[in-house]
This record gives sequence, C-alpha cells and structure tokens, in this order.
Amino acid sequence: MDGDVTSQLERLHEASDVLVALYDAFDRIRYANRAFRDAYFVDRDEAPTWAELMRRNHGLRRGTVLRVDDVEAWLTSTLSRRGKTGFRAFETDLHDGRWLWMTETVQSEGWMLCIASDITGLRVEERAIRQDRDQAIKASYTDDLTGIANRRFLTTRIEQILSAHRADAQAGCLVVIDLDHFKLVNDRFGHQTGDIILRDFALQIQGQLRRADSFGRMGGEEFALTLPDTSLEHARLILERMLAVVRASRPLTLYPDFTYSFSAGISVCRPEDTLSEFYRRADEALYQAKVAGRNQALVFVDPVDTTVEAR
Ligand code: GH3
Ligand code: MG
Ligand code: MG
Repeated sequence: MDGDVTSQLERLHEASDVLVALYDAFDRIRYANRAFRDAYFVDRDEAPTWAELMRRNHGLRRGTVLRVDDVEAWLTSTLSRRGKTGFRAFETDLHDGRWLWMTETVQSEGWMLCIASDITGLRVEERAIRQDRDQAIKASYTDDLTGIANRRFLTTRIEQILSAHRADAQAGCLVVIDLDHFKLVNDRFGHQTGDIILRDFALQIQGQLRRADSFGRMGGEEFALTLPDTSLEHARLILERMLAVVRASRPLTLYPDFTYSFSAGISVCRPEDTLSEFYRRADEALYQAKVAGRNQALVFVDPVDTTVEAR
C-alpha cells in the first residue's frame, strides 16, 4: 500500500461506524478505530489486552454484556478457544443496547483483525434462536469441569497441524499430558479437591499459551496441547517452563505445602502422519516420562532407529 492509500484508510477508519481493532499475538490491542475505542472505552494511547479490557469493562458495566456470575471462569473458557481458528463470526451485545456482528480473522503469526458492524435492527425476532445456537456450539467445544477446550476441539487442532504440514511442510508438535499420582491425590483429599487441582492445572497452563497454541482436556486427568509451527527444541523449552510453573503452584489453601506435577510426551508431525500415529507417539513418550520418574517432559524416540524425532 502506498502512503496515500494508508492515510485514506486511516481517515476512513476514524470516520466509520464499523468497529475495527487489531490485536497482536499476545492479544494486546495495537490498533483500534474511533468506533471501537468508543464502544469498548479504550484510550487512544493505551494498549490493553483483550482480557484486561473485558475484566475492566465488566466491572464498570460497560462494553460487552457478559451473562455470567464468574468473570474469571468465563475468561479462562473463552481464552481457551479465542483466536485458535482462522476465522470466527458471532453476535454480541453491548451495555449501551447495541448488537454487533463481530468477525475475527487470525493470520499465521497470531495477529487478529476484529471487525464489528451494528446489527441492532436486524432480524430481532430470531435473536434468541441464534443465541441458543451459539451457546450450543460453544458448549460442544468446552470441557464442563475446567471450562477449557475439550477433546473435540483439540482433535480439530491436531488435524490442522497435520494439514499445515502436508500443505507447506510446517513443523508442529503435539503434547500429551497426564497428571502424576492423581489416584493418590483423590484418595488423600477426596474427589472434589481433585477437581480443584484439575481446574488449577488448566489455569496454570492456559496462562502460558501463545495465541496459536491450543490446550484442552481429553478426559480424566489427561490433557493435550498443540504447538503449531514449533520445533521439537522449542516445544521442549515451552514444556520446561510449564513444568516449573506447575511445580510452583499451591492450589490448596488448607494445605499450603501441597504441590503436584505432571508428565508429558512430545511428538513432532511427520510426512504421511495420521492423527492416531501422531497421538500414539506422544502417548508413548508420555509413558516413557512416567517410567523415568514422572514430573518431566520427554520427546518421542523411535525404538527402531533411535534417533530423536526432529533429526
Ligand atoms: P500416574 O502418575 O501413573 O498417572 O498415576 P495416576 O494415579 O494419575 O494414574 P491413573 O492415570 O491410573 O489414575 C488417574 C486417576 O485420576 C483415576 C481417577 O481417580 C482420577 N480422575 C480421573 N478423572 C477425574 C476427575 O474428573 N476428577 C477427579 N477428582 N479425579 C479424576
Ligand atoms: Mg491417566
Ligand atoms: Mg495420572
């Protein structure tokens, strides 16, 4: 774009009633036009993250209407799916009474363009049906206990890594995670306390994801993490950091010394991979991590050629 076009575009964005915002890979607002700033109360010279913006506006009863009691739980759940797919469109309403049709477009480096138009007058009588539909779609991708993504959502993300690899040989890793000695935890503290730890774990990991990474509960105390466009070496570093964060967590207020840990298996996608093969290798590495003493992440090593996957 030449300078002329850029400045016209900027001027039109300021004049338009369509809401436009650009978020970077860390979900921080890097650009917002006048209509967006007015609707969400963003100052021209600040760059809050989306979560900060939602939290602050909810407290002041402005911006997006959140029909929830627990904002933090809602943020966790929404962040677990936000910006993980290339494109998303949905209806949302503001405290000022306006309804918006919002679209989110994400590019491969994780920047996200958000464009929203006013649809307040549009097909009002079908709104309840559309909301029910959106709720049902959201529920079908959400794990009830932790609020993060579920197996169905993660399965699609794993398939996405494989198709990106087929299309342009992009690297990508899959991590299968299992909490250590969880039966003992349940036996000692009870199932409900076990659930608290599962929720804490979801929160700890969720806080460390990049936009393109997805994390979800596969079932029980087993989780999966997808790391698109990531080498094995990088994946290993990411897991070391996650292990450290979880080791430092103290989720039980009644037992301030209680700590827990997890084990993880990492596999990198291969040409001709299938979902079940990709998963099986991560699962095999997880088993090796358990055997090796738990509280660690191991990369899959082929028992036949004994080379580490990436090499
Ligand atoms: P390991 O380190 O080998 O993984 O030991 P483990 O005790 O975690 O082994 P295993 O995977 O066999 O046990 C998983 C336990 O997790 C069994 C079950 O009691 C517990 N669990 C599974 N789902 C839930 C849940 O939703 N809530 C709670 N509280 N516990 C669960
Ligand atoms: Mg298990
Ligand atoms: Mg376990």
